[in-house]
Amino acid sequence: MAAAFKEVWKWSGVDEKAGGGPAMIVPHGGVNFVQLEGGSGLVVRVKKSAKANSRAKIRITELADAVTHGELATRRQAQLMLRPECSVPGGRRTFAVFGDIPAGAQGAEVEAFNPGTQSVDARLRVVVLKPRAVKISLRVLQTVDESNKPAPHSKLKFEPERLLAYLNLILTPQTNIVVSLGVTAPAAPLDEARIAKALDLKAAKARLPEVVSFDRFKDLLAAQRDTDAACTIFLMKKVGSGLNQNGSISKEVLGRMDSNLNIGMVADNEDTFFYARTLAHEFGHFLGRYRKDGEKTYSGFDDLRTDSDQLMRQGGSGWRIPLEHCIGYFNPNY
Ligand SMILES: [Zn+2]
Repeated sequence: MAAAFKEVWKWSGVDEKAGGGPAMIVPHGGVNFVQLEGGSGLVVRVKKSAKANSRAKIRITELADAVTHGELATRRQAQLMLRPECSVPGGRRTFAVFGDIPAGAQGAEVEAFNPGTQSVDARLRVVVLKPRAVKISLRVLQTVDESNKPAPHSKLKFEPERLLAYLNLILTPQTNIVVSLGVTAPAAPLDEARIAKALDLKAAKARLPEVVSFDRFKDLLAAQRDTDAACTIFLMKKVGSGLNQNGSISKEVLGRMDSNLNIGMVADNEDTFFYARTLAHEFGHFLGRYRKDGEKTYSGFDDLRTDSDQLMRQGGSGWRIPLEHCIGYFNPNY
């Protein structure tokens, strides 16, 4: 079997498909993990810089027992919250890579050297990333019940610390984005006259519908964003996207994001894995936002159409963030 560097488990900050060969991110001052398949007998080392006396930017250490190694075990435990099938593949060598000094977008290189043939049998690009700290506000949308008391529109149990843990579980190993929580108090029920107006109704007052149209309500909700947070996501039962000519909602969606208003909406989903993915996906539109040449407003990171295991794939089923998207959009602190 040809030697090759592999991710320890899915979506852990190793990009096997990166252009130019496998690549990984390592947090500045921290550690990430990688495996070598088919590489028994090879000497795994950091490639020396061409510059004389230049300090190595990264260090690499082989782990005797990957599953019981402290930090790796902690991460695995965390990932098991969402992905019970996650396991460390056996029959491979496992390494801890330490990011001591950022070395630009190209990063440093690890090589697996074959002493017998005097050749390098596998290479790995390592990009050291400083953290990008981002505060997110998560607010449950409220409506009113039959007795006119505020009641959550979302029917899910609201556990902001748990949702924060999911976001960091998805984002930090792959981008070194470190998310913190802003306001988590529920959003105040919207004024019923304003709801009627937003819905283009003749009636003077209206209650919030079960499916909340992103297009009709985003401006009203923008008034309730947490101005101290980078982005506010409102949680609700169902989200509508787009408007037909007759004013009806075009379709129900998992979520939406406006990367200029800095607000998003996410719909309830009983499946925790998909709920966490949707939250991170909508947040990802904001995190990866960019300006086109000559434009004042932002474009949200685009929905992708390829590879359904990608976080930013529209309606996808995974949370992989390729290295080029990471350093090009999500966290260019290399
Ligand atoms: Zn999207």
